[in-house]
Amino acid sequence: MNENIESVRCLIIGSGPAGYTAAIYAARADLKPVMYQGMQPGGQLTITTEVDNFPGYPKGIKGPEMMEEFKQQAERFGTDIRFGVVTEVDFSQRPFMVKADDGKTISAETVIIATGASAKWMGMESEKKFMGMGVSGCATCDGFFYRGQDVAIVGGGDTAAEEATYLAKLCKKVYMVHRRNELRASKAMQHKVLNTSNIEMIWDSAPEEVLGDESGVTGLRVRNVKSGESRDLKVMGFFVAIGHKPNTEIFVGQLDLDEMSYIKTKPGTTQTSIDGVFACGDVQDHHYRQAVTAAGTGCMAAIEAERFLSN
Ligand code: NDP
Repeated sequence: MNENIESVRCLIIGSGPAGYTAAIYAARADLKPVMYQGMQPGGQLTITTEVDNFPGYPKGIKGPEMMEEFKQQAERFGTDIRFGVVTEVDFSQRPFMVKADDGKTISAETVIIATGASAKWMGMESEKKFMGMGVSGCATCDGFFYRGQDVAIVGGGDTAAEEATYLAKLCKKVYMVHRRNELRASKAMQHKVLNTSNIEMIWDSAPEEVLGDESGVTGLRVRNVKSGESRDLKVMGFFVAIGHKPNTEIFVGQLDLDEMSYIKTKPGTTQTSIDGVFACGDVQDHHYRQAVTAAGTGCMAAIEAERFLSN
């Protein structure tokens, strides 16, 4: 074997709750896991504020702090955690070949994919400018800061509907901006949204610009896509809920993906279409998308990798 190629028993790609939990279990099973943290070490939780629904933290914990604790726990059992991004994989034969942006080529007996998903954004300059200053991708994380105020949310799917009803409980008024005149959300969620008195639907409209000053967001300019007319909504918060995108670009052509590009796993397991490659967390779950479910599947992936190696 080429001496520049590093051999590992278990390679973990990604470092959210799924990746770190897989690392804790794999390290304790003596698989000597190597982890590449990816573009956003700690994953989506590092862009949230308070996490109040992860068991074991009765007083809540900040997302970035929680991920630091996960990391320390993975390191305690000997995970080799590397700051870097996996750029290329070849799963056509075992051991699998993986390249990272630190110049290393790795030959891995098993691979655990925990690359997660990323929230989709509208792509406006002003959205970027006010990110974390009134622009948010997670109502359950940040809604609390807008108690008693007016906010806007964009999107017409189940996530937007759920988040709008969540915000309606905290905020004075919620403008729900949707580009069509019919919601994509399930009938039950549509009913809930349309029967919540402080949610106002702004149909056939698209956000044009987030308005604000040095204090943060002060409004949202929306344009009616049919009439072309614009109007300004006076809001302190703007929530984007137009879906998520799984981080699976490097696995296209290597693994079976579903129609939304999430990695397909065999029901009740984390096994992908290639034996020895496992997927856990949001990269294979568009439904629950919770830290605790991601951690659960991370544990499953490590146990399955261990069993695979001992067979
Ligand atoms: P979806 O893809 O279902 O919905 C995205 C919404 O955002 C659509 O209404 C879409 O409009 C709109 N949108 C997309 N891009 C843009 C854009 N550039 N500008 C303006 N609007 C845009 O994503 P969700 O996150 O809502 O849901 C993902 C999956 O998870 C679904 O299968 C959903 O059912 C499921 N889910 C289930 C839940 C539950 O059962 N409790 C809770 C949350 C999600 P348009 O409709 O015009 O395409």
